[in-house]
Amino acid sequence: MKAKRKEILKLSERLIKVKSVSSNYKGLKAVLAEVEKEVDKFFVKSFSKSKSPSLLVYSSASLPKKFKVILNAHLDVVPGRPQQFKPKVNKGRLYGRGAYDMKAAAAVEILVFKELAKKLPYPIGLQLVTDEEVGGFAGTKHQIEKGVRADFVIAGEPTDLEINNAAKGIIWAKVYATGVSAHGAYPWLGENAILIINKFLDELLKIYPVPRSEVWSTTVNVASIQTENTSYNTVPDKAFVLLDIRYIPDDKEKVLEDLKSLAKKYKLDLEIVLKEPEHFTPKTDPNIFLLQKATTKIRGRKSRIVVKHGGSDIRHYNAVGCEGITFGPVGAGHHTEEEWVDIQSLEDFYLILKEYLLSL
Ligand SMILES: [Zn+2]
Repeated sequence: MKAKRKEILKLSERLIKVKSVSSNYKGLKAVLAEVEKEVDKFFVKSFSKSKSPSLLVYSSASLPKKFKVILNAHLDVVPGRPQQFKPKVNKGRLYGRGAYDMKAAAAVEILVFKELAKKLPYPIGLQLVTDEEVGGFAGTKHQIEKGVRADFVIAGEPTDLEINNAAKGIIWAKVYATGVSAHGAYPWLGENAILIINKFLDELLKIYPVPRSEVWSTTVNVASIQTENTSYNTVPDKAFVLLDIRYIPDDKEKVLEDLKSLAKKYKLDLEIVLKEPEHFTPKTDPNIFLLQKATTKIRGRKSRIVVKHGGSDIRHYNAVGCEGITFGPVGAGHHTEEEWVDIQSLEDFYLILKEYLLSL
């Protein structure tokens, strides 16, 4: 295992050294070039959309219609200090931008794929994308649009070796109110559009109150209330509000119904600016069971099943009926100046994936 630990570290460090910030096209190409050197004994299909290159690696001569498993990883990172692109090992931790989110996990996925892809009795894919930090539309989603499918997808995002099977969906809505303008000294002659918005918000927030602490519930963020009116002595007849709604999978239909019925009640115009699907794979999925079994064997403890408030690329798979989870190593500080991953957990991640893939 010592040799494997070294191999994982070496490849992780190689990937961290490349400045593959999502907006740096050269860096994105360079980091994928590192991967291509690793998987030169396999078939590699290249994709590209909106300056976000991505790869799909597989072992059969022709591209399978549907993989049994896809190991998905993103190699783009958020910006970091220059020193963060010089990986460092200290007291069992690997430090660097992307160490935890998620270049070291990608290195593990690459190495597991290399070891097993030709031995497994079913098709397995290795999917490497470079735009997860900016939505995954030109990477994972683009490959899905081109027909890539799998029974089960594992994205090695930071989860401290717990299994993340669900994440919230997003709705951004712009809601317009129309009232009646009047002189500010005679407000009873008009109908104030801002006050209409207030009533609407009162009712909406009664259904979806702002939680006092972290709970698994749908939340509504009132991002902005605006009117074109700038004069003190005018009753505004037009106003709108911007809403950022994060809905749990169970509320998927209900949120839109509530918005629509309140819009009708207060005669509001509803514009859905963005709708991003939720991530949900049932806890009863046999792949989750097998992963938990593998984790118990390697770590001596069963992985918990956890939910996440922010989404991942798995939501793009869920949207076309493919199941998936995020599952990756232990660490801390992703998107901060002190990002690290636990090296022992990388070894365990490797062994768990191997155990799971061989048990399928
Ligand atoms: Zn990530």
